[in-house]
Formats: sequence, structure tokens, C-alpha cells
Amino acid sequence: MRITLLSLALALLSNIAFAQKTYLHVGKLVDTKNGKVLNEQTIIVSGDEIEDVIDGYESGAGKVIDLKDKVVLPGFADLHVHIETETSPTRYLEGFTLNEADIAYKAQELALRTLNAGFTTIRDLGGSGVNVSLRNAINTGKVLGPRIFTAEKAIGTTGGHADPTNGYRKDLMGDPGPKEGVVNNVDDARKAVRQRYKNGADWIKITATGGVLSVAKNGQNPQFTEEEIEAIVTTGKDYDLQVAAHAHGDEGMQRAVRAGVKTIEHGTLMSEETADLMKKHNTYYIPTLSAGKYVAEKAKIKDYYPAVIVPKALEIGPQLQKTFAMAYNKGVNIAFGTDAGVFPHGENAKEFGYMVEAGMTPMEAIQSATIETAKVLKAEDALGQLAAGFKADIIAVDEDPLQNINTLNEVTFVMKAGEVIKE
Ligand SMILES: [Zn+2]
Repeated sequence: MRITLLSLALALLSNIAFAQKTYLHVGKLVDTKNGKVLNEQTIIVSGDEIEDVIDGYESGAGKVIDLKDKVVLPGFADLHVHIETETSPTRYLEGFTLNEADIAYKAQELALRTLNAGFTTIRDLGGSGVNVSLRNAINTGKVLGPRIFTAEKAIGTTGGHADPTNGYRKDLMGDPGPKEGVVNNVDDARKAVRQRYKNGADWIKITATGGVLSVAKNGQNPQFTEEEIEAIVTTGKDYDLQVAAHAHGDEGMQRAVRAGVKTIEHGTLMSEETADLMKKHNTYYIPTLSAGKYVAEKAKIKDYYPAVIVPKALEIGPQLQKTFAMAYNKGVNIAFGTDAGVFPHGENAKEFGYMVEAGMTPMEAIQSATIETAKVLKAEDALGQLAAGFKADIIAVDEDPLQNINTLNEVTFVMKAGEVIKE
């Protein structure tokens, strides 16, 4: 009797699971793995995964979503986002006016905007730690947003790009240390990584050179010794934390690549020698062309940025697209990342147009935000493809992006992990 009841319960449960299937009838499907477009496919979604993708339009018990006149792609990943903040002329005051809760409410809004733009996964490369809480809130279904891999607080050196008190008056500067992500020797470097692990980071971000938007003079000088970066990379390995390195100048970039970081962010003044070194070390390049364009444009507006930033933005911004073309032609691994937050969140897909403008094919640009990003995140069996066993992160646009790449700016349907977000 007990067995009969149990089997009845199981039958009921499997019926419920069966009834929860969703059948997406897809006019055109972008097969990111093989780099081609398939016509008239059905994607069967069960729970948070794709159960199967089959030829023709099929349906069974469950919901049908009609995307017959759409082009359907895997949800995109943006590997360089700052989800806690967004550009504005008052941005530099916010450190003194916003409480953590203010940042959290704002971040939630920015995360939803990002998800609605078709970005179902992001890597957050540096904030205050709200990014960790936001990731957890999203993962437990409390708020809607993309899947987040976060570096928590970026690691820099004293006066360096990620020193949080740059530009403050002296009595406010204090002396931040490894706990706050500021290091000055290999012991500090190890501690800063372990602290990020303790704080819940998934990645480590370092600022290997000066940067454009910090209140400091030099936007490209090396800011870590190679030994410090090596200590960060090897300590990161103990905790399964890969390292992303912000770098504009060539020397700092080379140190980071030799020390074994996984990604170079911006890479603005990359030499051909460094591009070769990146190929040798299997380092990925994250171009952030959108940020370069945006800061160069805003730097022309009086008082948009503090004065010390303006010449850096005008010099470094316009260089990025040329560097991208060089790296692409040399065959450096490229994965999609924009630096959203430096420009308005939700406009991440403009990057595709900039990549194509610089010589990449539309299919490669799409692969850079699906297949390639998944490799960087060590999620190549779960993300970036519309195939059986992958997460049901599915988006749609009205036109064929291989003909018109800018259609990716108008995502009309978003499903994340089987849940319809935008229809
Ligand atoms: Zn950034």
C-alpha cells in the first residue's frame, strides 16, 4: 500500500514537472557552437535547463511561446560591468552621500535593466561588496537580475587605480590596506585575495596600471610589481579564484600576463609583442570599446569629470578600437566586456557594433559574448549555447544580427534559467 501511494505521489510529481515544460517555436536559431543559423527549431525547456532542441515546430503538454518571426540566441554575458554605479556628473560625490542601502537599491535597478537588455550573465569587476549581496539575492530569487560572477572590491596599490581614497583631502585618506583591497608587498597581496574569498568574491580583479577615471595623474603606469601579481595569481588558485587585470599601459600588462592572469581588461596600449605574449599564455582580451568611446565623448563636456581625468580620457578613449583591431587580426582570444557603469547600464549591446566596425564578423562578435565568455567563466558546459543540458538563458531579436548587428540593441524577449523575464 505504501509503495502504491509513493508511486502515485511520484507520478503526480513527474506530471507537474512534465506540465512545466515550455516549447519555444523559433524561426531562426543562432547556433553559437557551429557558427551558423538554423531555421524552424523548437527549444524544449524543462525547469531551468534546455531539455532538447529539435527540427521543426513540436509541442506537448506545457506552454508554447511563439518566436517564429524572431531570431533567437543564447543570453549574452558581459565580462566587465560595475553593477553598483553609473556615470553621472555627480558620480565623484556619491562616495560621500550614498549609504550602502542606497547603492543596493540602485544596483538592483541597474541589474534588471541589464537583464532586460539580453545580458543574462555578468562579471562584476569591482564595487563595494553590495555586488556580492546582489548576487546572492538574485540567486535566491529575491530580486531579478543577471547571473553574477563578482570580484567584490578590486585590488590596487597605494595611490593606484583601485585605492578607494584617491583624490581625498589628507585627513580623509587614511591608509587603506589589504582588507580594503590596497596592497604594497606580496604578503599584503595574499591577504587581499584571502579577504576577497572571505567576503564572497568569485573572481579577483587587480588594477595592474593607472586608470582613466581615478583621481590621479597617470592613466597607464605599472602599479604592481610582477612578484605581487604572481602572489595574487597563485593565492587565487588555492581558492579557485581567477584573476582579471585592468591595464592600459604595456609594461603593466606584460607583467600581468607573465604572472598568469586570465583576462586583460581594456588593454589600450597593447604592443604587438604583448599580443603575442597573450596568445602564448592563453590570456583573454576584454576590449571595453564602449567605455573608451563614452569617456572620450564626455571629456569634451566641461566639468563632467574632474579636471585631472580629462586629458587621460581624451588620450586613452580613442585608442581602444585600434588596439582591438590589432589584437583581433593577431588572433588573440577575445571575450565580450564593456565596462558598463562607465556608460549607462543596459546599453551593453552597442559593443557588438563597435567590434564589427573594427573588423570582427557579426558571428564572431556574438560568439565572443556567448561561447568565449563561457570559457572564461569555466561554464562552457552550462552557458553560451542553445543545446540540451545548457541553462535556459534565451533571448530574441526582430532582425537577423548577421545582416544588422545593431538589432542586438533591441532585445524583445528574455528568458533566464527557464523564467520569462521579458516577452
Ligand atoms: Zn571597469
